Amino acid sequence: MLNQTSSTRTTQQWQQLDAAHHLHPFSDMGSLNRAGSRVITHAEGVYLWDSEGNKIIDGMAGLWCVNVGYGRKELADAAQKQMLELPYYNTFFKTTHPPVIELSHELAQLTPEGFNHFFYCNSGSEGNDTVLRIVHQYWAAQGQASKRYVISRHNAYHGSTIAGGSLGGMGYMHEQMPSRVPHIVHIGQPYWFGEGEGQTPAEFGLARAAELEARILELGAENVAAFIGEPFQGAGGVIFPPDNYWPEIERICRKYNLLLVADEVIGGFGRTGEWFAHQHFGFKPDLMTLAKGLTSGYVPMGAVAIQDHVAQTLIAGGDFNHGLTYSGHPVAAAVALANIAILRDDGVIDTVKHDTGPYFQKSLREALAASPIIGEIQGHGLVAGMQLSPQAGSQTRFENGGDIGLICRDHCFANNLIMRATGDRMLLSPPLVISRSEIDELVEKAARCLRLTAEGLG
Ligand code: PMP
Repeated sequence: MLNQTSSTRTTQQWQQLDAAHHLHPFSDMGSLNRAGSRVITHAEGVYLWDSEGNKIIDGMAGLWCVNVGYGRKELADAAQKQMLELPYYNTFFKTTHPPVIELSHELAQLTPEGFNHFFYCNSGSEGNDTVLRIVHQYWAAQGQASKRYVISRHNAYHGSTIAGGSLGGMGYMHEQMPSRVPHIVHIGQPYWFGEGEGQTPAEFGLARAAELEARILELGAENVAAFIGEPFQGAGGVIFPPDNYWPEIERICRKYNLLLVADEVIGGFGRTGEWFAHQHFGFKPDLMTLAKGLTSGYVPMGAVAIQDHVAQTLIAGGDFNHGLTYSGHPVAAAVALANIAILRDDGVIDTVKHDTGPYFQKSLREALAASPIIGEIQGHGLVAGMQLSPQAGSQTRFENGGDIGLICRDHCFANNLIMRATGDRMLLSPPLVISRSEIDELVEKAARCLRLTAEGLG
């Protein structure tokens, strides 16, 4: 079998080998192995093909990451060129290299004012591990080492390393993590539809922000280092907070001298039609976690963007004992540069802001206006969360909403559409290069799958 090339295998052979040797992330491997995985063999633009020849429209840009779409030769060329020139060198021990220098310079230009320093890693999870290390070093360097608590939110997703999983607020992950990073606490999420009954969104937004102040006072501001949040929660269900939430969170962070961290792993690089999602919500973080859209997922790379006052403290603070073999990897940096060039020079993010984003949001709302099982649609730019509800337009939830989300996802599977289910919310986040006619197809298929789901419920 050793000399058999992969292209000669049948789907069944691939599935058998996959089941025999490969453990998948976030999966029940027993049932997955019995059913067999879908084998994706190639991709172009916004489409994937599986080993059975099915053409699938990717409404999730992979895992929220393939912002420039599949098959971009510019990125492959950049990787090849860099691999031949300098495939690897580290940035420890007084050393650097051109790709990481150019990328840092580029990011300093395109990130909002005051972000002029970047620390690199390989993923969003490692980015948030790095955030924790930076936050602690920042306060320690100023003689305030007691400021070590980090406040996060229930149903947040910040990754799956021990620190990322601890920072996140996913109960089903915490249950399997008897050892978590200490000094991390969680407050309520700004999920008005699910948790704000009897309050207007504005009342609820203030109430959830007030939980931050209450928790700071309980812990003592002298013990609290930072607050971290996704500008909109992605994996938690594409939850957009009420408009007054982020300005109030920012006010509280400033009042009690906390660092404000925006996890921009999903929101960064154009998803909402702004370069960074915090710009959409109108607040200014001290640190930003970046990954996914930084390289459009072509190669792994993450980073932390650091505001000047934090960076200067780190720079003046002596050794910072943190780093990864692949921090600032030259091939990843070269691909990130090529990716950013496409996003900027092709006007991809401008198009999302002024054309395809509004078109997608409007089309989705029109197509689902008569759906009997949509409680609300949230989103902006090219990201949307559709709340399932037994009573359209009301703030009620199915008791078994998660099951219904999975039924809908099965219809998507059968209809060659990638749409994600998070409990009782269906999520879309397509590549940012999607055209109007591809949006028509995406929305038509999503509406069809939701209709089939509703019909199945009777
Ligand atoms: N933060 C956020 C907001 C994410 O959505 C994710 C991944 N979906 C992560 C962090 C973790 O990133 P990674 O999977 O690259 O470690």
